[in-house]
Amino acid sequence: MIIEIDPAAPDRAVVELCGRVTAHEDVTAWPLTINGRRFVVVSGDEALVPPTESPIVLGRHSTHPTGYWLVDRGNEVVPDVVTIGDGEVGCGVLWCAAGPCALESFDDAVATGKAVRAQGAHAMRVGVFKPRTSPYNFQGKERAGVRLLSELKVAVGLPVVTEVLDPRDVAAVAEVADCMQVGTRNMTNQALLKELGSAGRPVLIKRGFRAPVEEWLRAAEFVVAHGNPNVVLCARGVASFDGSLRCMPDFGAVLAARERTCLPIVFDPSHSTGRRDAVTPVALAAAAFGIDGLLIEAHVCPERMHQPGDGAQAYDPDKLGALLRACAEVRRSAAELDQ
Ligand code: PEP
Ligand code: MN
Repeated sequence: MIIEIDPAAPDRAVVELCGRVTAHEDVTAWPLTINGRRFVVVSGDEALVPPTESPIVLGRHSTHPTGYWLVDRGNEVVPDVVTIGDGEVGCGVLWCAAGPCALESFDDAVATGKAVRAQGAHAMRVGVFKPRTSPYNFQGKERAGVRLLSELKVAVGLPVVTEVLDPRDVAAVAEVADCMQVGTRNMTNQALLKELGSAGRPVLIKRGFRAPVEEWLRAAEFVVAHGNPNVVLCARGVASFDGSLRCMPDFGAVLAARERTCLPIVFDPSHSTGRRDAVTPVALAAAAFGIDGLLIEAHVCPERMHQPGDGAQAYDPDKLGALLRACAEVRRSAAELDQ
């Protein structure tokens, strides 16, 4: 449940309200302020929450059955533009973060970062905590990699988007990262999502590859309800019966999420396909669906990447500028035709 309160309400009245709604031991509540609007977020069975009539209460909103309210487009709470470093996602200009799957060779990461920057990328993507499906594969440089990320940022001159896997690493990653990525396998890691609510950095949430759109929005709601409205949604393909591509690009999810929320939505044509030769067409198709940005894996020399890894989907950084221009054009044409 969300209770909206008067922005001018004295703090003691808010504390008193929180105390009143949590009379039952299984109900918790906490105050939340987003862009000047103030709320009390209530977690628990709504039937256990006593009446909340009070001069400071502007509205009492059930969060059933969707499980989200703050990210709901109709409630106009969350922003439609999220700032990442000196770039903006959702501002009308197609945003792009590109870079290696993982930080492996530092020199290759710098060379790739410089190349994507020269091609017009607004941010660099790179992982130091890798969610591998086998314990025998390279797991990323982990904490040592977090320290290297600051050097990489200086060398490249772009903001960094990087994944965090464990709530215990959130504070350390937030010191360096300009945007914290939640991977597809962690979309339902609520402990991580809650921690990211207080990270003080924008959060990019990838859709779980088996998750319905509603659960994706609830993942965003977790982060927002815990204090952080700066969330970007990233579609990245879903599991499918068909193995032609690594995943099935989920354009329908872009439309469905767009209808329900005004949060920016970006697309990852790399993990949704697993093939370098599919990145161009899928990025263009995503652009036709009106996405706000792209997250693309690129590498100056995929042959040097660790195996097994994502070398097969690494895009040529030198092609990125042309791809981004073509995507911007397709997006504009599609929007014009449907006006
Ligand atoms: C990634 O972007 O580095 C990644 C692991 O992606 P996903 O979580 O979508 O598989
Ligand atoms: Mn990857």
